[in-house]
Amino acid sequence: MNLLALDSRWQRFNDENWACPCCGQAFSGVFDIGYDHPDCWTHGSLRESGQYALQVGDDKLSSDLCRWEDHRFVCTLLPLPIKGSEEVFNFAVWASVKPADFYNYIDFATGEAPAFAPCEVWLMNDLPQFASDEPISGQLQPGPDGQRPRLMISDGPLAQAQAEGISFDQLLDIYADTGTDVRPHLNG
Ligand SMILES: [Zn+2]
Repeated sequence: MNLLALDSRWQRFNDENWACPCCGQAFSGVFDIGYDHPDCWTHGSLRESGQYALQVGDDKLSSDLCRWEDHRFVCTLLPLPIKGSEEVFNFAVWASVKPADFYNYIDFATGEAPAFAPCEVWLMNDLPQFASDEPISGQLQPGPDGQRPRLMISDGPLAQAQAEGISFDQLLDIYADTGTDVRPHLNG
């Protein structure tokens, strides 16, 4: 049941024709939060560079793949369903992948291999609302039809959030923590 449909803030958040009385901002619903590179990457932002890829020595970063020292990373979607709605919020985050799995994944992504077996990976971005002192592991799974692969977390609060969903308020907290405080603009 779509319980959030009864929440007037949720209605405004999803209504492009509704404009905030204080500033005129409008929203068109759930948007993803993406990370430019793994947190360990030391050569600056790909997005800010305006280039297709960054390369420094043997280190390399594109919007999908990254190589840094001996490590290999894949950009994934970490889905979090939103409770009381049919919507899913995604963090686009980087996963550290063992080299053999990394090359298997590339073979799959480029059509060289027909399938990709899910493998264990590590989350490489610190996520707001889900800070952890311990490394967070999960499983890399193929995404549907040419989409980014999915990262399903193994255990802890983030795994619980993936299984049970996050509330609209938690989503608004995540947006505020990543520089987009939507909350003040959803009041009637
Ligand atoms: Zn406003």
